Amino acid sequence: MQTKNILDFEYSDLQSYLLNELGLEKFRTDQICDWIYKKRVFDFESMTNLSKDDRQKLSDNFKISIPHIVKKEVSKIDGTTKYLLELEDRNTVEAVIIYYPSRTIACISTQVGCPLKCSFCSTGQSGYVRNLSTGEIIGQLLAMEKDKEMDVKNVVYMGMGEPLLNFNNVVQTIEILNHPKMKKLGARHITISTAGIPQKIEELGDLNKEFRLSVSLHAPTNLQRDQIMPINHKYPVEQVIQSCRIYQKKTKKRVTFEYILIKGFNDSKEDALKLVELFGDLKVMVNLIPVNENPAGFEKPSKRFIQAFLDTLVKNGIDAVVRAEKGSDISAACGQLRTRELKEANR
Ligand code: SAH
Repeated sequence: MQTKNILDFEYSDLQSYLLNELGLEKFRTDQICDWIYKKRVFDFESMTNLSKDDRQKLSDNFKISIPHIVKKEVSKIDGTTKYLLELEDRNTVEAVIIYYPSRTIACISTQVGCPLKCSFCSTGQSGYVRNLSTGEIIGQLLAMEKDKEMDVKNVVYMGMGEPLLNFNNVVQTIEILNHPKMKKLGARHITISTAGIPQKIEELGDLNKEFRLSVSLHAPTNLQRDQIMPINHKYPVEQVIQSCRIYQKKTKKRVTFEYILIKGFNDSKEDALKLVELFGDLKVMVNLIPVNENPAGFEKPSKRFIQAFLDTLVKNGIDAVVRAEKGSDISAACGQLRTRELKEANR
């Protein structure tokens, strides 16, 4: 019999399936979720508060598919841990654990590779293969939690791929992360990062789910953004910002913008002022990220330029911070680990 990955199931679907197909009482769903999502036990045989008969039924019908860790790099500087994870079909994705003084964050992938091909991003270089299933997205988090033997309370969708091009599965994973009987994470603890797919940003506004939205903007004008993000030809800056306005109207939530600072390209005071004008009355938070090592050969601006850019935003009433670089010694930038592995494999 074809077994299903139990990590593909939202709570209510799992409960109905267990009840209607396997005849398991309703409260069994809570016990099973507790084993998987809280205790990190990934085989039904070890779920000792279930009867032998129920455990057998579960094993006959389900698998708990956790991606296999094929490579792991730990930063000597700050403990950032980057994983290369292998899926059942042998494709690989990256996921990362990042430590901050006050919290630990899991960064997970939504696609194998990425179709967007932003010039500064290593993921696009390794091509695009396919969307990840719901269970494959959730499985990354569980694999890392198991490895670290810890409960991670913050998740960002900033690994490989464009989350909003895998919309339905990503939305299902938010449901699983939010659900009180599953991962039980609240709004401030889940961040969806997107290069900006306007219709999907608007759809996110209708969901009534708990998460934060972050948009990878990286340039204030179409002239600049076209050069580094091909998706901008399809969805120009104004259209992306307009969709954020609609999202904000629906949700009343502030939108975060990621802005990579590239030396001599988008780092001038004029660029910062154009950004202020572009946002207008939109309530935003800006994360400034001095560009990491990248395939385009872009360089970080000097500290002085970074500070001046930040000051211009702040003086003009925009909340902004410079994001600290993490794991700089371990191919920390998105997609680098997988690209390197693929190159080595093809040698
Ligand atoms: N496709 C989504 C999520 C994946 S990328 C998005 O575009 O938001 C996650 C974040 O890493 C994005 O903000 C992306 O722009 C950023 N990123 C990619 N390459 C980078 C690099 N070389 N330096 C700094 N940030 C990078």
